[in-house]
Amino acid sequence: MTQPKRLNTEKLAAARLWAAHRLPYLASALFASSVVSAPGSASISVDEGWRVHVDPALLEAWSVEQVGSVLVHHACHLLRDHAARARAAGVNEDSAMRWVRAADAEINDDLVDADVDLPDPAVLPGDLGCEPGRLAEEYFANTRDDESSGASCPCGRGADGQGDGGKRTGDAGLSEFGAAMVRRQVADDIIQHSKEAGLVPLGLQRWAEALLSPSVDWRRLLAAELRRGVTLARGMVDYTYRRPSRRAAALGDVVLPSLVQPVPEIAVVCDTSGSMDDAMLAGVLSEVDGILRAVGVRGNGVRVLSCDATVGAAQRVTSARQVQLVGGGGTDMGVGIAAAAANRPRPSVIVVVTDGLTPWPAAAPRGITVVVALLGPHGPPPPSWARCVRVDVAHREPLTR
Ligand SMILES: [Zn+2]
Repeated sequence: MTQPKRLNTEKLAAARLWAAHRLPYLASALFASSVVSAPGSASISVDEGWRVHVDPALLEAWSVEQVGSVLVHHACHLLRDHAARARAAGVNEDSAMRWVRAADAEINDDLVDADVDLPDPAVLPGDLGCEPGRLAEEYFANTRDDESSGASCPCGRGADGQGDGGKRTGDAGLSEFGAAMVRRQVADDIIQHSKEAGLVPLGLQRWAEALLSPSVDWRRLLAAELRRGVTLARGMVDYTYRRPSRRAAALGDVVLPSLVQPVPEIAVVCDTSGSMDDAMLAGVLSEVDGILRAVGVRGNGVRVLSCDATVGAAQRVTSARQVQLVGGGGTDMGVGIAAAAANRPRPSVIVVVTDGLTPWPAAAPRGITVVVALLGPHGPPPPSWARCVRVDVAHREPLTR
């Protein structure tokens, strides 16, 4: 029996077209992959550079539809970044097979919805004793290695992230940046398609929504910045408490403060100028409120100042929701920051919520961390002495199937 050494590129092209026709919103991903001939591998697999490795003999044996289905399946592994997620989940050579079954279940669920016939064995969540519609991490956590003895589709490093010490394989194929661009494009196409034709599997739509929704991102970033500011402030105070000066110790009658962790003072300055969107402002304030609660600033309350050309009275509130916003007109956040810094006790963190259309002072007030929540995608960033989190709520609209 002769084994074909060369790839039947026409058949491969036909399979790709079949796939792109069947699931048009995945076209960017399907056409982002280059193809490598892999004689004797008895598989069609993908690596982390989005290259498809194809055994010419297998390509001959399978139908165009079967090859096309596998290309769709692999595109989903790459879009969903299963390789990086495998490493994050601690998958190693021993558990790689179980991970691939979990990842396959995450994908195949959707492909059944999209009416794509997968070549056997197509693992589904039910085969793992799990509910459909969940993520690979959950399937992985709910199975054991001895349960994964069954065959699985040999999907490659693009699915399990193994090999090369777990690192991404060199510079071959698509770069990480290129992959990120393709993911974004496909997510856009999915949302667009779901609005116009309404025929996108729910799992893929959720994936696209999560990828495009920056709300998750800015909340996490803002929380990280606030935690950092608060920790910094606590650390400074704690330090002075733990190490009284040698001179003071020599006096012998020093009264040490009790070792209670000090609660840092936080001030919030809100831009209430005419250019600001009230709903966005309210959204950020409630987020700040939640984060401060989480870092334990609850009891002390937060001082919130509203600020346009003039500064509204500082209000001591226990929730950012209690702030009274005054003003409307010109804006100068420098005035607001100065007013917040002048308050006693002096705040250690000032959060500024603004659209960025404002003059800024030349430097932050001494010893105070300034975190700017910059609303909207186009606002000019604050100077580099401020920590900036861009709050983009462009993709907030609810999605319908
Ligand atoms: Zn797979």
